[in-house]
Amino acid sequence: MRIGIDLGGTKVEGIRLKDNGQIDKKIRVSTPIENYDTVITSICDLISDLQTPDRLSVGIGTPGTLDPQTNFMKNSDSLCINGSPFKKDIEDKLDYSIRVENDANCFTLSEAIYGAGKEFKCVFGVILGTGCGGGLVVSRNLVNGPNRISGEWGHNCMPTSVRDLIGSDRTCHCGRTNCIETVLSGRGFKQTFTELSGIQMEPEGITKQAELHDKDAKNCIDIYAKQLAGCLSTIVNTIDPDVIVLGGGLSNIKPIYEMIPNHLCGQVFNDTIQTKVVAASFGDASGARGAACLWPKS
Ligand SMILES: [Zn+2]
Repeated sequence: MRIGIDLGGTKVEGIRLKDNGQIDKKIRVSTPIENYDTVITSICDLISDLQTPDRLSVGIGTPGTLDPQTNFMKNSDSLCINGSPFKKDIEDKLDYSIRVENDANCFTLSEAIYGAGKEFKCVFGVILGTGCGGGLVVSRNLVNGPNRISGEWGHNCMPTSVRDLIGSDRTCHCGRTNCIETVLSGRGFKQTFTELSGIQMEPEGITKQAELHDKDAKNCIDIYAKQLAGCLSTIVNTIDPDVIVLGGGLSNIKPIYEMIPNHLCGQVFNDTIQTKVVAASFGDASGARGAACLWPKS
């Protein structure tokens, strides 16, 4: 068995994962918002509640990543862990080694080993939620590079082929303009709907309105599927994965799965598209599951 922790903006989920992929124990607590020290204490308490006398391995998925030069956290926009020796602080408290990895990478690892990508060799995972992250797993191994930003396609600039589908330039929290995240995140989807209708609505509401044949809501989903396919085409041209697994709240918009293959045709550097684009098997639960998979089975 292994322990996996998923540190999110609103909740921390911890699981004890059996080697056959079943969950032995699961605990979910609210993410402490007071300060960094309470986040560390809360995670260590959660680990202690899941730990056994055998001292199981522990993996943690977080927003952002550990900088390979400094070992300090970076790129985590939703939590107060940036600039901190997050991994070392937890190891000092626990007195044993842990592994820490970006949450989108954990999601991809989970789906590649146990979920929608388990039959495939090369799996690209995409999170379409508060942000727009991604990860790459080949032969069940996470691919990461010297900058530790593999899969971070959300901060690539939107391809020009789909940029004319937005009303005006969009500023990203990273400081750049028209990042993919500004259109494919929940916030981006909402902004597109507002541009079309003048109405502010949450993504779930827009999806419901589309089911009721609301013209603007249906148009918003059409545009989203086109933008998503245009952005995914850059992944297909660069990596050519066997499968792209979509997770995060916006991956629940069911009509996009029929639309994407049509929109990919013509945008990818090939006459036909063999790439599968599928929904995640475990949804939100993939974070903790993938974090556990940062260590080999014991
Ligand atoms: Zn950005």
